Amino acid sequence: MYTPSTAPVPDGEIIVERGSTARDLGPKLNRSAGDVVRFLLLQGEMVTATQSLSDDMIELFAAELGAHVRLVDPGEEREAELLAKYFEDEDLEEEREEDLRPRPPVVTVMGHVDHGKTLLLDRIRQTNVVAGEAGGITQHIGAYQMPWQDHLITFIDTPGHEAFTAMRARGAEVTDIVVLVVAADDGVMPQTVEAIDHARAADVPIVVAINKMDRPDANPDRVLQQLAERGLVPEAWGGDTIVVQVSALEGTGIDDLLEQITLLAEVEELLATPEGRARGTVLEANLEAGRGPVATVIVESGTLRVGDPVVAGAAWGRVKALVDDRGDHVKEALPSMPVQVLGFSEPPQAGDELRVAKDLTTARTLGEARAQRFRLSGHLPAPSAATGARLEDLFEQIQRGETARLNLVLKADVQGSLEAVTESLRKLERDDVKLSFVHRGVGGITENDVQLARASNATIIGFNVRPDRRARDLAAVSDVEIRTYEIIYKLLEDIEAAMIGMLAPKTEEVISGEAEVRQVFRIPRVGAVAGCYVREGSITRGSKVRFLRDGVVIWRGTITSLRRFKEDVREVQAGYECGIGLSDYQNLEEGDVIETFEERETART
Ligand code: GDP
Repeated sequence: MYTPSTAPVPDGEIIVERGSTARDLGPKLNRSAGDVVRFLLLQGEMVTATQSLSDDMIELFAAELGAHVRLVDPGEEREAELLAKYFEDEDLEEEREEDLRPRPPVVTVMGHVDHGKTLLLDRIRQTNVVAGEAGGITQHIGAYQMPWQDHLITFIDTPGHEAFTAMRARGAEVTDIVVLVVAADDGVMPQTVEAIDHARAADVPIVVAINKMDRPDANPDRVLQQLAERGLVPEAWGGDTIVVQVSALEGTGIDDLLEQITLLAEVEELLATPEGRARGTVLEANLEAGRGPVATVIVESGTLRVGDPVVAGAAWGRVKALVDDRGDHVKEALPSMPVQVLGFSEPPQAGDELRVAKDLTTARTLGEARAQRFRLSGHLPAPSAATGARLEDLFEQIQRGETARLNLVLKADVQGSLEAVTESLRKLERDDVKLSFVHRGVGGITENDVQLARASNATIIGFNVRPDRRARDLAAVSDVEIRTYEIIYKLLEDIEAAMIGMLAPKTEEVISGEAEVRQVFRIPRVGAVAGCYVREGSITRGSKVRFLRDGVVIWRGTITSLRRFKEDVREVQAGYECGIGLSDYQNLEEGDVIETFEERETART
C-alpha cells in the first residue's frame, strides 16, 4: 500500500517547467520521485521517474497535494531571470527624464491596394534627393529616414497594414503615425476601413492623404464624407483629423503632407534618450550571400554602435557593421533611425526586440536560452497587454465588478449580414458589458484578422465565412479563438451565455480534409463533377462538407459521390486527385475549396 509522504507542500506559486520528470517535480513539492510515480500508477498512468510528464499529470499530482503549480515553458524562467539580471541597471538609467530628447516620428503608409502608397513613398524619397542630399536614398533596407526642413522623418518602406499588425501581434509598436492614403477617384474601400481599424486598435494617430488629385474624376469631398462616416472628421469640418490633398504622380502636396507629419509629431511629444545602451525593434531580417545574417533595426532608445554585443530573439552577436539607408557604413545609430545590423549569429525575426548586452557572453547566454525555448514551444512572444476580454473570460471580468469590454473581430459573407449581425450584437450590450468591434469586414477570415485579434486580445466571430488554412494555423499557435456561425441566433445565444458565465462547450470542429477544385465537368447521367486535388488530410464519402469561395461559405452538405479514375472510392488521401460528385450544388468553380469536417463536443475548462 502506498503511503504518501505527509510533509507540507511549499506555500504560494510553484513554478514547474512543462515536460518535467517525476524526479524534477517531486522535490519541488517536497515529495520523492517515487511518490509521484506511485500516485500516477494509482491513476492508471505508468511512468518512470525519468520520463517526461504531461501537463495533466503534473496538475493532477499538484491538485492531490493542494499545491499551487504554474506550468511554464522550459527556458522561460531562465530567460526572465537573465533579462532581469543583465538589463535591470539599464532600465533604471532609461528612466532619467533629463536625458529625453525629441526623436523623429516613425511613419507607416496604409490604404487600399492601388491607391498609390508605393508611388507616394517613392515620391517622398525623391523629395529628399531634390533637396540636394548627396546621393539620396539608394538602398531599400525596409525603412528610410529623410530630412525635411529642420526635422527628420522615418518612413517604413513596406506599405499596408499587414506588416504593421504582424509586428504589433509580436508585441512591437514601432509606428508613431499612420498616413492613410485614399484615392480621390475611388474613395474609401475595404482595405481603407481595415487600415483605419488597425491604426485605431494600435492607438496610432492618422494623417489622411487624399491621393490622385490630378485625376479628372477626383472627388475629395466624397472622400471627406466617407471618412467622416467612419469617425475621421476632417479639421475643416470641425473635427481633428488632418487631411492633405496630394498627387503622388505629379508630386503636388507632398511638402504639405511632410509638414503636417512633423507638426503632429511635435504634438505627440515623441521623446527618447540617446544615452545608454540601445534598444530597438527588428523590422526585417534575412541571410545575404557574402554578408551573413542582416537585420534592419529601428533604434528606439540609446545609441547603437559598431562593436556592441547585441541580442534579438535567439540571435546574438557583436555588431560588425551598421549600414544606413544610403548604403553608407555608419559608426552609430540614434533613436528612430533605421539601420542594417551585421554580425548576428542568425537572422532574428521581424518584431524581435534588440537589446545591447553588457558583454558578448551575456548576449550569447540569453540568445541560447531563447533558442532552447523556441525549439520547445515555438517562437511566440507573450501576448500584448491589450485591455478588454475575450469571450471565454468575459464573465470573470463582469464578476470583478468592472465594466467588461468584449473585443471582437467580426467577419461576414456580405455587407448586409455584417450590418445585421452588428445590430443584433449591439442590442446585447448592458451597463456592465460593452462590445468593442476592433474590426468589421466582409470576406473570409485571414491571417491578418488573427494578427489583429491577437494584438488586441479579441475573439474572432465569423458569420458564413471560414478561416483559411494559414489563419487557422496561426490562431491555433497564438491562442486566438475563432467562432464561426451560420445562424444568427446561435451566435447571439453564445454571447449571452458568455455574459452569464455559461458559455456552452464549443462544438469543436476537426477539419478532416481540404481539397481544391481544379476543374468542373459534366458527365452524362452523373451530373457535374468537380475534379479536385486533396491538399490536406483526406476526403471521405459521407463526411460533412462545406464549399468555400474566398473564405465565404457558399454551400453545406454531405459528400455523396467520390471517385478516383472511374472507381467509386470511400476515401482519398492528401496528394491525390479525385472527382467529387455535385448532385445538389452545381455551381462550383475552379479555385473553390472543399472542406470536410467532423464535429466534436469539447468540455470547457
Ligand atoms: P499601392 O498599391 O497603393 O502601392 O499603389 P501604387 O503606388 O502601386 O499605385 C497604383 C497605381 O496608381 C499606379 O499605376 C500608379 O502609377 C497610380 N497612381 C499612384 N498615385 C497616383 C496619382 O497621384 N495620380 C495618378 N493619376 N495615378 C497615381
